Amino acid sequence: MRVLVAGGAGFLGSHLCDALLARGDRVVCVDNYLTGRAANVAHLAGDDGFELVDVDVVDSERLHGALTGHFDAVMNLASPASPKDYFAKPIETLDVGSLGTRNLLELARRDDARFFMASTSEVYGDPLVHPQPESYWGHVNPIGERSMYDEAKRFSEALTMAYHRTHDVDVRIVRIFNTYGPRMQADDGRVVSNFIVQALRNEPLTVYGDGRQTRSFCYVSDEVRGFLALLDSDQIGPINIGNPGEFTMLELADLVIELTGSSSTIVHHDLPVDDPKQRRPDITLARELLGWQPSIQLREGLAQTIPHFAAEIGVG
Ligand code: NAD
Ligand code: UDP
Repeated sequence: MRVLVAGGAGFLGSHLCDALLARGDRVVCVDNYLTGRAANVAHLAGDDGFELVDVDVVDSERLHGALTGHFDAVMNLASPASPKDYFAKPIETLDVGSLGTRNLLELARRDDARFFMASTSEVYGDPLVHPQPESYWGHVNPIGERSMYDEAKRFSEALTMAYHRTHDVDVRIVRIFNTYGPRMQADDGRVVSNFIVQALRNEPLTVYGDGRQTRSFCYVSDEVRGFLALLDSDQIGPINIGNPGEFTMLELADLVIELTGSSSTIVHHDLPVDDPKQRRPDITLARELLGWQPSIQLREGLAQTIPHFAAEIGVG
C-alpha cells in the first residue's frame, strides 16, 4: 500500500511510519512541525519507500499541490496531543481537527482510499461511566479549557462519519488512550515525560492536584500494533486502543522514582481545570473484533522508555 501519514513526524506518527515501512508499505509523511520534529523520522531518510513533505494539512491548496500520485490509505494523526501544546495553540488545534480533517477526507475520497482517524479518549471528557466503552457518549464541557481539543476530535469523528455516510468513504476511527514511549519530547508536558525527566534530574516530581486521579498507559508499540489491526480490519469503529491497567498519578510517580533510582521527592501543583478524574479503556471490542490486546505492562514499558529520555537530556 501507499500510505499518507499526516502528523507522521510526531511521537505516534513516527512509530507508525516505522511499522508501515517494516511491513513493506510505502509512506508519505506529511507534517508542519507544529509539535513534531524532523528528527523523529531522520532515520528513514535513506529508505526508498519513505517521503517527507513539509506542509500544513489545513492549507488545502498547498496540501493538494504538494501531494502527487495515488494513496491507498490516508491516516490522520495531525493534531497537538499534549494538553500543554493544545492550551498554547487552541486555534491551530481546532483548525487541524476541522479543516485539516476535511482536507484529508477529501484526499481519501479522491483516491478511493481508506481513511483512518486518530481520535482520543478525551471524547469521553471527564467520564461518568467507568471504564469507558465506545458506546458511552461522554461528559465534555464544550466551552471549557480543554474544549479546543475535545471538541476538535469529536468534530473529526462526526466529519469522518459524514463522509462515510454521504460519500461512502471507507473509514476507521480509533480512540487512543494515553500512550507513552521513546520519541516523546522531554518538554512536552505530559505526565510520563515530565516525571521521567524530573526523576532523572533528581528534581521533585510535579503531581497535579492530590494525585489520586487515574490514567491507563499504553506502550507505543502496542498502540501502533492496534492501529494496524484496525486499519486492516473491516471495522469502522470507533474502537478504543489502550491498556486497561489503571494507575493513580501518585502510583506512577512512585514507580518512576523506583525505576530511575532517583532521590526525587513529590510536590503538588494545582490541578488543571476540567482534568479528567479517571480514565480506563474498555477494550472488549478491540479484543473481540480485532484480536488485539496490549502485551507490555507499565513497569516494562517505562523501563524501555527511561533510557531514551536519559540520552535525550544527557543524563546517566
Ligand atoms: P505529537 O504532537 O507528537 O504529534 C502530532 C503531529 O501532528 C506533530 O508532528 C505535529 O507537528 C503534527 N501536526 C499538527 N498540526 C499539523 C498540521 N496542521 N499540519 C501538519 N501536521 C500537523 O502527538 P502524538 O502524541 O504523536 O499524537 C498523534 C495523534 O494521536 C494526535 O492526533 C493525537 O490527538 C492522537 N492521540 C494521542 C494520544 C497519546 O497519548 N499520545 C492520545 C490520544 C490521541
Ligand atoms: N499530571 C501531573 N503532573 C504533570 C503532568 C500531568 O500530575 O507533571 C497529571 C494531569 O493533571 C493528568 C494526568 O497527569 O491528571 C495525565 O496528564 P497528561 O497531560 O499526561 O495527559 P491527559 O490524560 O491529561 O491528556
